[in-house]
Amino acid sequence: MNIFGKAKWKLRYYCVKNLGKIPGFLDGDNYYCNLCGKTSRFFMSYGTKSAVALSMIGSGVRRHCECPRCFSHDRFRWIYEVLLRYSDILSPERTRFLKIMHIASEPGIKAQIKKKSGSLAPMEYLTGDLEQIYSDVKVDVTDMHQFEDDSFDYFIINHVLEHVPDETSAMNEIRRVLKPDGVLFISFPMCLDRKTYDNPEITSPADRLNAFGQEDHVRLYGTDSAERLAQFGFEVKPLIVKEQMSKKEFTRMGLIPEDTIFLCRIKR
Ligand SMILES: [Zn+2]
Repeated sequence: MNIFGKAKWKLRYYCVKNLGKIPGFLDGDNYYCNLCGKTSRFFMSYGTKSAVALSMIGSGVRRHCECPRCFSHDRFRWIYEVLLRYSDILSPERTRFLKIMHIASEPGIKAQIKKKSGSLAPMEYLTGDLEQIYSDVKVDVTDMHQFEDDSFDYFIINHVLEHVPDETSAMNEIRRVLKPDGVLFISFPMCLDRKTYDNPEITSPADRLNAFGQEDHVRLYGTDSAERLAQFGFEVKPLIVKEQMSKKEFTRMGLIPEDTIFLCRIKR
């Protein structure tokens, strides 16, 4: 993003934050954000027009994407909803027994998990990233030598794998550090009109943008994503917004109907 783009977004946040202080400005029941737990009269549009003609889920401008109160985005709310429905991470009786790795954690979710786990100190929730500045620990998903086999009850990794050239090492490492009965939640940008496209010879930012939809993506996932994940030794269950809730519900939460998170368990 260039300097004008950054200035535009900063101005937008400044305006919304201050307008939000006007009594009643945000009040209404049209939209509900599960992350801040509040309703609003509107959600804000977010995203930039895609520079290439790829129909990736969640790319481009979404009209009702951003909560004006906590600035959460559609996909942050969907992973949080999935954690609420399909894990015991946010259950006060269970969290203290769990060990969780969350790679490139979505804003707001870490705070919710820490809040829910409260004083239940034994729970170990770690955020990881290639740069430790953004997380609790520095983690390269293709080489997690610092963690023993069978370390985690949950491994959460969204919108990361499309940046990782060595997909096989990453998936093998995730399977290694996950406990035998552990759960992997994983997602990535996907196209629903083609199969996964992977070509290591495409390396320049311009060529990657054209082929994969973003300058720093190394792969474009498609309709065969579940089978692709299964090849790494997982049983895969796609959790798709429109199959998990009614249109009324997902519209009110500003979710993308096709947004998909894969719930994976190690094949026995
Ligand atoms: Zn919110």
